[in-house]
Amino acid sequence: MSAEVTTSLEKELNTWLAAEARFNQAAEALGLDDGMRKILRTPAREIAVAIPVQLDDGRLQVFTGYRVQHSLARGPAKGGIRYAPDVTLDEVRALAAWMTWKCAVVNIPFGGGKGAVVCNPAVLSMGELERITRRYTAEILDFIGPERDVPAPDMNTNEQTMAWIMDTYSMHHRTTVTAVVTGKPLDLGGSRGRVEATGRGCTFVVREALKRFGIPPADTRVVVQGFGNVGSMGAKLMARCGMRVVALIEVEGAVYNPQGLDIEALMAHRKETGSILDFDGGENIPAAQAMLMDCDVLVPAAKENVITSQNAGQIRARILCEGANGPTTAEADRILAENGVFVIPDILANAGGVTVSYFEWVQDRQGYFWNEQLVNERLEEIMVNSFQDVTGYADKHSVNNRIAAYMLALDRVTFAIKLRGIYA
Ligand code: NAD
Repeated sequence: MSAEVTTSLEKELNTWLAAEARFNQAAEALGLDDGMRKILRTPAREIAVAIPVQLDDGRLQVFTGYRVQHSLARGPAKGGIRYAPDVTLDEVRALAAWMTWKCAVVNIPFGGGKGAVVCNPAVLSMGELERITRRYTAEILDFIGPERDVPAPDMNTNEQTMAWIMDTYSMHHRTTVTAVVTGKPLDLGGSRGRVEATGRGCTFVVREALKRFGIPPADTRVVVQGFGNVGSMGAKLMARCGMRVVALIEVEGAVYNPQGLDIEALMAHRKETGSILDFDGGENIPAAQAMLMDCDVLVPAAKENVITSQNAGQIRARILCEGANGPTTAEADRILAENGVFVIPDILANAGGVTVSYFEWVQDRQGYFWNEQLVNERLEEIMVNSFQDVTGYADKHSVNNRIAAYMLALDRVTFAIKLRGIYA
């Protein structure tokens, strides 16, 4: 491969450049002026903190933590905190903006935020992680809160991390404040239905897309990439809706059954053997073959950049539902559009997770917890309305669904900024 090709491919795979390209296209289509584009691009607040921590062996180490609040125009910032050795402020900035657009697409009253601690959780003990988390929380204490900024789990953080943040914040406020974070354990103010929320949200938007094309669920062949939280829950719930999940793709390969895989049995098989392969109810096939097979719905639910200019032309799905964040490059978008693939973009398709986080925040503030049926009904209402908003916008403005989702989000945030006016 020549140096030039490597460079252009690298550029294509840069998720932040891709988000920027889509932002620009949407801002252009909306006719936003330069001043508004500057406001929308610039994070409202960026915090960098030093986190001194004593390690188990007695040494002192200073970690760096960030919290970026990209927009507070529509409500408190909302977004996860990730722990990773290579995370940068630039990455956190871009992810915070992404959250602003995602919350606006599903019309929940939050802005966007993201946080990070530069550390390698793989080499840290639970005690060290707890001390890092508590000191990080103490350092950003004045900037977070139910009315200000509501963090959540992200890469390498989980329910336990959220419980420590909630406890640290509560100790300083001398009262228990569960609504300061979401993604908490159920016993500490978490919401029912959160674990399934993202996969369930994907199922609702796929069902709406199938209606649009007049495809009955029973005639629908689904291929899912990734059998983690989003992929396994999505596959299970799509199968429950009567769709046939014909292939599942993991790192080690794929399993295929044209009659439809028994997802719950496959989950049990993976739990037992550590792999999806050699499953009684299907045959092993190469991952690349499954990705490119003839199907009605393809759900990339593993990681970013799996559909690029290199393979987009061979995708044979009618509908692409982006369970993962950023699975499709901007170059691939163009190819998919030419081939008539109906894309349900990530900021809509996987917004079920942040939507149920919003429900968690509401329940914590009400001090009244909903049953799972109510959570699921309200999630359905939001996902179906958002699907209609985005596709309606796409039809009205003759743009693809992704640009429509960005336009809708930018329009909603711009509207809030204009209504509030510029404080000086
Ligand atoms: P996860 O870690 O639970 O699952 C990811 C799965 O994908 C794992 O089983 C992993 O082995 C598999 N995988 C990784 N690389 C793969 C590859 N090349 N081919 C096939 N499989 C591969 O993660 P998750 O929470 O399910 O998140 C998946 C994606 O969805 C991420 O992009 C995440 O940002 C996005 N997302 C998740 C949520 C949520 O609520 N969990 C919400 C919104 C977006």
